[in-house]
Amino acid sequence: MEVNIAGTLLKLLQGNIVEQDVEAIVNAANTGLWGGSGVDGAIHSAGGPAIAAECRRIREEQGGCPVGRAVITSGGFLKARYVIHTVGPIWHGGRQGEDELLASAYRSSLQLAKDRGIKSLAFPSISTGAYRFPVERAAGIAMATTKDFLAAHPAAFKEVRFVLFTPAVLAAFEQALGKVLESAPAS
Ligand code: ADP
Repeated sequence: MEVNIAGTLLKLLQGNIVEQDVEAIVNAANTGLWGGSGVDGAIHSAGGPAIAAECRRIREEQGGCPVGRAVITSGGFLKARYVIHTVGPIWHGGRQGEDELLASAYRSSLQLAKDRGIKSLAFPSISTGAYRFPVERAAGIAMATTKDFLAAHPAAFKEVRFVLFTPAVLAAFEQALGKVLESAPAS
């Protein structure tokens, strides 16, 4: 599925985030930038030790990355030149600010990419693996936040891609994007 929002192509597809030929891919990281399972593990193993070395430097300089924020490193051996590491919230039932923190993780990543002049960007589904955020709810937040950001910053990017690992997650994102566009059609 793809749609143009204020001059940026927004694409949803099934695939592996580490294989994407975009300028930056987004990592579902943890606050210590330690590398972990899921997306994080896949990025560090495909990208090689340069990414972990830069994460270590960021950890030493600023103590890591708070939930809802984002930092950037190079992409090592990846096709992507940069990795934007963002930290989504761990799901604790939904009453501990999880929705806003997840929106903030997407917004911070988009803002950091835009500030760096990055023109193409790929996201995974943040927080919906080890962090257990319910996927339908997360997809709604991801799509609404991204649509709002793109609408507010015309032609900020050439392309923003969501690379979803399974058909079920892709379907949840497609449904969420459909709903977001129904309430405010893309230009
Ligand atoms: P978090 O810790 O933020 O929950 P995870 O990496 O555990 O992050 O999972 C986030 C989502 O990414 C899940 O839907 C998971 O299935 C998916 N995922 C895992 N590996 C990859 C990959 N290589 N590319 C894209 N998505 C992936």
